[in-house]
Order: sequence, then C-alpha cells, then structure tokens
Amino acid sequence: MTFASLGLSEPILRGVRAVGYETPTDIQASAIPKILAGQDLIGLGQTGSGKTAAFGLPMLEKLVGGTPGLRGLIVVPTRELCVQVAENLRQYAAFTGLHVCTAFGGVDMSIQESAFKRGIDIVVACPGRLIDHLERRNLTLEKVQIVVLDESDRMLDMGFMPQIRRIFIRLPQERQNLLFSATMPKEVEGLVHDFLPHAERVQIGTRSQSAKTIQHRFAAVNVTEKPRILERLLENESGKVLVFVNKKIGCERLGNTLKRDGMPADAIHGDKGAEQRHVVLQAFTRGKVRFLVATDVAARGIDVDDIDLVVNYDFPLGLEDYIHRTGRTGRAGRSGRAVSLVAPSEKRLFLAVHRHLKGEAPVDDGGGESRGGRGYRGGGGGGSGRSSGGRGRPGGRSSSRHATS
Ligand code: AMP
Repeated sequence: MTFASLGLSEPILRGVRAVGYETPTDIQASAIPKILAGQDLIGLGQTGSGKTAAFGLPMLEKLVGGTPGLRGLIVVPTRELCVQVAENLRQYAAFTGLHVCTAFGGVDMSIQESAFKRGIDIVVACPGRLIDHLERRNLTLEKVQIVVLDESDRMLDMGFMPQIRRIFIRLPQERQNLLFSATMPKEVEGLVHDFLPHAERVQIGTRSQSAKTIQHRFAAVNVTEKPRILERLLENESGKVLVFVNKKIGCERLGNTLKRDGMPADAIHGDKGAEQRHVVLQAFTRGKVRFLVATDVAARGIDVDDIDLVVNYDFPLGLEDYIHRTGRTGRAGRSGRAVSLVAPSEKRLFLAVHRHLKGEAPVDDGGGESRGGRGYRGGGGGGSGRSSGGRGRPGGRSSSRHATS
C-alpha cells in the first residue's frame, strides 16, 4: 500500500515524502480514503498510531487549490499538542501553499491575530483560546468545511465539553466532522450523538489497547525507596526516559532532585508557562535533557519518537492513563519499554492494569524488601516474554535477585 494509492495528489505526496513516511500506518490506510470520500468519521486509534496524518493529509487534499480562508479546524486539548499537530501539518503542507495557524492560551492574542491576517486556511486550536478569538471576531468559522476533534476523551477529562459544544454550534451546517479519541466515555458518545450521528467508526485493534511494541514491567517497592530506585534505573539508561508523576508539585520536586544529582533532567507540568514548557520540550527533543519528569496533562502533547523508556514513578490512577503514558514509547512501530514502580498503596491500580495487559494474575516473587524492589512479572501488549536484562530494570545492576520480568 502506498500513499498515492489512497487518493492523495502530488503536492501532498511531496510533503509526505519530505517527512520520510514510506507506507501508511493502519489508521491512515483505513481513514484517509473514507475522509476523502466525505464521510464523517470516528477514529479510535492507539497512541502513536499516526492519526495526525490520518486526518491531516486528507484535510489538506480537500483544501488545496480552493479559495483561501479558514476552512479547516482542528481542536486539541493542550498547547503542546496544538504546537505539535500544527508543526506536523505545516510539514505535510509544505508544497500546497496552505497556511496553518495555531490558537492556544498563555501567549499574547495579538501575535496569533497577526498570523491569521497573514493568511489562514487551517487553525489548530485549544478550545478556550479559540472561543476568545471568535468572540473578538479575530476568526469566523462560517467557511469551515472540515472539523477535527482530537483526543476528545482528554478534552472531556480537562472539562472542555461545554466549550466544544459552543464551538460546534458556530460551525456551518454543511461540514465534515472527524472525531478522534483513545476511548469513548459516555460524554463523548453524547457529543457523537449530537454532532456526528452518522459517522463511520474506524478502530485499530481493540479499544484501550496498548501498542504491541511495548514491553511492560512492574516493580513492587516501598514509597520511600522510589527516589533511589529511580536514580539507579536512570543511571543505566543511555537514551531518553519519560518519568510520570501524578501531581504538579511532585513533578517539579523530582525534576529538581534529579538535576541536583547531576542528571540531564528537567520537569514539565501545567504550572510552567507556555514558553518554559516549549523550551523544556525542545531540550528533550534534542536530547540535551534526557530524563523528563511529567504530569499526564503536560505529557499529552509530547511527540518525541525516540523515547526508550517510560517510568511510572507514581502509578497512574486509571487504565487509560497507563495506556496513554506508555504509548509515549514504542511509537510508530519502534520497540519501547515501560517500568512502573508500585507502592503497596498502588497495588490495586496495578492489578487492574496487569489484568488488562495480560489477562492473567500478577506474580509477586516474594523477594521481600530489597534495594531494587520485589518483582511483578510484566504483562505486555505483545512485548512480554523477553527477559529484563540489566538495562531498565529497577535496581538495575545492583542485583539480579530483583529482576522484574
Ligand atoms: P501520531 O499518532 O500522529 O502522533 O504519530 C506518531 C508518530 O508516527 C509521529 O512521530 C509521526 O511523525 C509518525 N508517523 C506517522 N505516520 C507515519 C508513517 N506513515 N510512517 C512513519 N512514521 C509515521
């Protein structure tokens, strides 16, 4: 299968070649022809499945050569995702003459307004800032032909549903709707019922499926041991590691501790301003910062392909978060690893995840208190069965007794 066989034309294909994509991913192969045919679509895709191009390429195809003006709208939950989706789209659109703008909070509205005036065909926007621009008449949605809601379940989690509805009622009746979501909670189904009742669903794998290329491991530890175990784990890593925590304050603190201990580390969370977050993300992308401590919301837009390892320093509070977090590694067909440090108080959360991943009961090796933590055998979205080796094992080189897999 090639991108050309999906019905994309030469200016778009040139953009695809320029970013180095050779063959379409599953979601691209199934979604692109349907979108080109004008269907409303609900994409339930794995994290890292290539969904930006799945909606971005056919959107460009539909708009190229038309009358300039705002005709494509993409709504995303976070600033980081906004910047990244727009960057991807600009790359794909490099040979089309189409203009892609962004609208997100935390920066001066006038800067975005000036960009709109220079030319706008597509806007990638966070809900709140988009509404601000609409109310000031900096933008109008009356010519929008195609609208995308990306990461809809996350928008729901972040409380954006009322804004989404306000945006939808400003759109013209005649339009194409695309909605992407990792999961379909009730409220998202409600939105679908109201605004895309006839949409076709495209699902890759089963819902809430973890990428097949990720090896999952779990280590039972005491909460007080976590900092030491994390540092030991990181000492053995030569690539990029994303470390997840549940709270902003813990995020900043852990990032500072790692930095103080001489590690190439930093932290990203919602209390940092847009500019600061951008600087940290750039440093991580370029490898200047290799260990990034993040909260779920801040990490949402991280689109870095070469993350070797995801560490759940705090265990995620829900299965979906586990899947989103670990989906930051093993992207676009590469292999990845995930290690979760499980304190006794987090065991219940772990059990739910483990059952989901493997459909089998967890194994506790009964190793007792240890430097590296007791091991839980990792389940895996396909990556199970590999031995842990020294790299990435909590406790790392300190002891083979505490292997986690
Ligand atoms: P996404 O799910 O859109 O965030 O994409 C995940 C990663 O896969 C991004 O880094 C994309 O650049 C990359 N990607 C998307 N489509 C392809 C493709 N067809 N071939 C190779 N890489 C891709």
